[in-house]
Amino acid sequence: MNAYDNAIRQLEKAAQLIDLDKDVLAKLSVPEKIIMASLPVRLDDGTLKIFQAYRVQYNSARGPYKGGIRFHPQVDLDEVKALSFWMTIKTAVVDLPLGGAKGGVVVDPKSLSQSEIERLSRAWVRAFRPVIGPEKDIPAPDVYTNPQIMSWMADEFSQLEGKPSLGVVTGKPLEYGGSKGRDTATATGGFQVLMEAIKLKGLDLKKTRVAIQGFGNAGSVMASLLYQAGAKIVALADSRSLIYSDQGLNIEKVLEHKKQSGSLAGFSGAKEISQEEFFQLAVEVIVPAALENQIDKNNAKDIKAKIILELANGPTTPEADELLTKQGVLVVPDVLANAGGVTVSYFEWLQNISHNYWSEEEVEAELKERMIPSFEAVWQIAQEYKTDLRTASFILALKRLEKAIKVRI
Ligand code: NAD
Repeated sequence: MNAYDNAIRQLEKAAQLIDLDKDVLAKLSVPEKIIMASLPVRLDDGTLKIFQAYRVQYNSARGPYKGGIRFHPQVDLDEVKALSFWMTIKTAVVDLPLGGAKGGVVVDPKSLSQSEIERLSRAWVRAFRPVIGPEKDIPAPDVYTNPQIMSWMADEFSQLEGKPSLGVVTGKPLEYGGSKGRDTATATGGFQVLMEAIKLKGLDLKKTRVAIQGFGNAGSVMASLLYQAGAKIVALADSRSLIYSDQGLNIEKVLEHKKQSGSLAGFSGAKEISQEEFFQLAVEVIVPAALENQIDKNNAKDIKAKIILELANGPTTPEADELLTKQGVLVVPDVLANAGGVTVSYFEWLQNISHNYWSEEEVEAELKERMIPSFEAVWQIAQEYKTDLRTASFILALKRLEKAIKVRI
């Protein structure tokens, strides 16, 4: 099963429970537009390399398309479709006036120089210029894309348009129209809802052990926030290494080590563990913050955690979801848990088009005002329909999407 099959299964499960209008279900079962391009990029050694690129504009019933761009060797069309579908659900869960989209390039950015990445990023904008724009479709960072890349993209678009068009992408650096708090938003929003989940599970944060998979934008900020709040981070994983310490890891030192060596591998005071061991750890919370399909029917049965907070998109397969629910594990789903990223992207876009910039405190307070009521609404629906939080999130989103679609078909 690929990520898109999983996404459609999630849609159908929730649609059945609320008897979703058949026309709306048909509309939401396919993307509105798929745009593909071959990007020719001149490498530093003079050779020309072609990169396959995608933009999937899934649904715009509630507003302009919105969603990140991923640079990764395993990007494929089904993955981008799934991610764009989840964006459609996510923006509706947190009630943003936006639709859902996603982009991707099949590339290993670690094998490219900075100037090659710049040429690739600018080529992406040239290829997709007709379909993106502040009122059409607004990309943002995702796996292996970052504020620097967003800056090149906004600059390329502005040059082509012949005017500053900062609102074309979000997740930009502060110096070039970025929002305070955007770089930490995904983890901050996740942290806010995790505190609610911890209360509901009757856990004490100071005695909570946590394992985090993925140590990039989402995972590393989450590790810092939990560490500062007194939780014990016992395990971390990145693409090269998984590390464990029964005493708890000093996250400041881990960040320093990762900055210097580029990886978690070789961090002193921790032992290396396998992926299998990672998911069997005696922890209260697991935070997947890397890629899709990490928790499947094979490892779900060994999970001892009481809460899984999905900062990654699509980390749990539908089979694993069922097992985890039976085991009493509270899964806070991606479409809610990581919605802080798109929420502050929305704030950035509002600031760009109004030319009025907010303080960090304002951003964090506004984020909390979206995240906590959304969590509470999802929790209520889960009780009402006696279902899991993922299905409840989908129900909340589908009811909103249904209204927006029905008034025009
Ligand atoms: P990133 O590029 O900053 O970091 C990705 C991390 O995952 C890196 O530490 C990498 O080493 C690690 N990784 C890659 N493959 C791995 C593997 N097989 N096992 C363990 N670790 C692995 O990306 P990010 O922005 O932190 O995104 C991570 C996840 O969060 C993605 O699913 C993304 O879609 C989701 N997300 C990100 C944002 C955001 O604002 N950045 C918002 C919502 C959701």
